[in-house]
Amino acid sequence: MRRHRNVKIVATLGPASNDYDMIRSLFEAGADVFRLNMSHGDHDDIRARHNIIRDIERDTGRPICILADLQGPKLRCGVFKGDEATIEEGAPFRFDLDAAPGDGTRVQLPHKEIFAALEPGKTLLVNDGKLRLRVDACGPDFADCTVVTGGTISNRKGVNVPDVVLPLAALSEKDRTDLEFVCDLGVDWLALSFVQRAADVEEARDLARGRAAILSKIEKPAAVDAFDDILAVSDGIMVARGDLGVECPVQSVPPIQKRLTRKCRAAAKPVIVATQMLESMIDSPMPTRAEVSDVATAIYEGTDAIMLSAESAAGSFPLQAVQTMNNVAEAVESDKTYREIIEASRASHLSTTADGIVAAAREIAETTDVQAICVFSHSGSTALKVARERPRVPIIALTPITGTARRMVLSWGVHMVETQSVERFKFAVVSAVRAAKAAGFAEASDQVVVTAGIPFNVAGSTNILRVAPCDERLIFGSEVD
Ligand code: PGA
Ligand code: MN
Repeated sequence: MRRHRNVKIVATLGPASNDYDMIRSLFEAGADVFRLNMSHGDHDDIRARHNIIRDIERDTGRPICILADLQGPKLRCGVFKGDEATIEEGAPFRFDLDAAPGDGTRVQLPHKEIFAALEPGKTLLVNDGKLRLRVDACGPDFADCTVVTGGTISNRKGVNVPDVVLPLAALSEKDRTDLEFVCDLGVDWLALSFVQRAADVEEARDLARGRAAILSKIEKPAAVDAFDDILAVSDGIMVARGDLGVECPVQSVPPIQKRLTRKCRAAAKPVIVATQMLESMIDSPMPTRAEVSDVATAIYEGTDAIMLSAESAAGSFPLQAVQTMNNVAEAVESDKTYREIIEASRASHLSTTADGIVAAAREIAETTDVQAICVFSHSGSTALKVARERPRVPIIALTPITGTARRMVLSWGVHMVETQSVERFKFAVVSAVRAAKAAGFAEASDQVVVTAGIPFNVAGSTNILRVAPCDERLIFGSEVD
């Protein structure tokens, strides 16, 4: 099974996508990565979804990437009687520390730090900034507000306080418990919410102890300012436009998205563009033209992955949302302008042997008739380097490490194949051409480029390239060892 596009699709799971059949349909329709949002659902729900994904992986024989998104120091309100309440402009509304279910007059805000830092005149934003309240009076355990922009608030909606600096730790107690739980389960990536500085990432990396790769969500002005340092210590990035567009002026989000996307590609680290990509599809089987254009723009910019949040987790049309992303991706990537943009924005590569080899592989693919670039990649670093080149032909990355196969699925264009470890280059070539043919990328009469590192099974050692025939008799007849 192969995709006919390079950009990857991340689908968040939730009540609308909870069982084997639905998750498998999402996978078959194009979801490459599943996101488990630790802000919703208890550990039993998370474990059940994780196990379903691993069952689908076993049943389809394809590596699937799982991203666990830690809530981070995200402020959320409590719950409501009947799960939601409507508040109207001009009405009074109180936030307090009382865990009793809220109503149209009050709700819990279980964060003492906020009450300590608030002052009359400050603004509280709820639900991605859709609702706005002004603080009139506050104390250590309450804030009395006036509703400036009303609407419906439901259980555990996010709360932002844009004009107050909150002294919050990078990982809450809940995050630490969740981190240990999901690392034990065997997720592939950990997403860190509300990262503010590189040290936040290093703290999580120490706790993860290599069990998962670390993805930093950029959703605070402080993270935008410290982006280069954060990127240097992260394995991947999410442009988390929901909170970013609340914490920063909303018009600053598109330029930030473009800048971050470009920097991630230059650093050969995957980037996800997230939030509100197909928002209207929560309730409608058809996206708006503007949403289609937004998805297309992220792809033209060269993002590694595009993400669905509530569209796939809680909406009425999760499958249609994945299909829409898949269709938009196929349309954009077959446009000539897409290739022009992608090629024009290629950064110059580093001067290591591996970088030279992958650049050569890409050039061979552009100038001769090869059907795929096949790379043997132990840690995944060569797969990332090839993805960074954004070649015209498919990338097939072979690895003997299950964790590498799953993690690299997030990266642009990489078709991951788990393979037995090989000791000699010609057996590597055989595995590569078999994988290319099995997945429908090539036929016996075709050629592929194969790269590997000799000696085998050492990370970051790519040093050999062969243009190989897909006819196995010709491989064994060759003199290359
Ligand atoms: P969230 O992160 O969905 O966990 O809030 C994404 C975003 O803020 O865009
Ligand atoms: Mn967020």
